[in-house]
Amino acid sequence: MSNIDNGNMEKSTNEYSIDSNKYKIIEYNNDDDIENVKEDELIYKVILIGDPNVGKTSIIQKLVTKYFNQKYNSTIGFDIFFYRVKINDKIIKLNIWDTCGIQDFFSCTKNIFTDVALAIVSYSIDNRDSFENLEGWINKLKQNSSPNVLKFIVGNKCDLEDKRQVQKEEGEKLKNDNNYNFFIETSAKDDKFVTELFDNAIVQLFELNKLMEEKDGDELKIDFKRRKSFVINDKINKNEKENNNNNNCNC
Ligand code: GDP
Ligand code: MG
Repeated sequence: MSNIDNGNMEKSTNEYSIDSNKYKIIEYNNDDDIENVKEDELIYKVILIGDPNVGKTSIIQKLVTKYFNQKYNSTIGFDIFFYRVKINDKIIKLNIWDTCGIQDFFSCTKNIFTDVALAIVSYSIDNRDSFENLEGWINKLKQNSSPNVLKFIVGNKCDLEDKRQVQKEEGEKLKNDNNYNFFIETSAKDDKFVTELFDNAIVQLFELNKLMEEKDGDELKIDFKRRKSFVINDKINKNEKENNNNNNCNC
């Protein structure tokens, strides 16, 4: 029997109303669709951190490919995935950096946090240690990234209710105590709230961009990069990955 769950390959369109704002988010992953508008997309770097085995890779794979793999393949160093949507009149591309979850790796590749717009700090609800270790991840993020980075906490594997070791309220409290922007429990396995997690990210980045267009970015003291002038294309990303993986780090 295959370990792969085929999922739903259809393109999704989601609509939200938050306060008086209405958002329509359409998955826009087909390159043909965006051929003519590529120049206008806003590009953001997103990083997932947290202990190994909490489901970081699975969350991203569920989002991008719709597949879920039961088998554990540990991430070596890091991988980069791309996810593109249209939100109202803007195209947003997320360059999602999936990381290995070994804290020492981050000590020797500090530049992995450079230009991060959103950091997703993740644990698994069935693993108390992965939650306790968030303190270390939160500190690492604080030390190495801009204070203006959007920060989310995610408790994955919420399908494992009978094995739960971390209550939802504890995740919520950690988010509030650290002034993070969002908390959600997800299940990459059951495809629960993975889209919601990234839709929320897209709405927050979209709103931030609106603010930056209305005001002077300096005035807002936002120093992560975004948009057209931030030309990270797939090729540059590959080079960057190679350079980072060639840094003689042992992990
Ligand atoms: P990472 O090391 O944080 O990237 O974790 P992986 O994404 O590689 O997942 C580790 C293991 O947990 C794999 O065996 C996955 O199949 C499993 N897993 C990931 N997400 C979920 C989930 O939401 N629920 C359950 N039950 N298992 C999951
Ligand atoms: Mg992984």
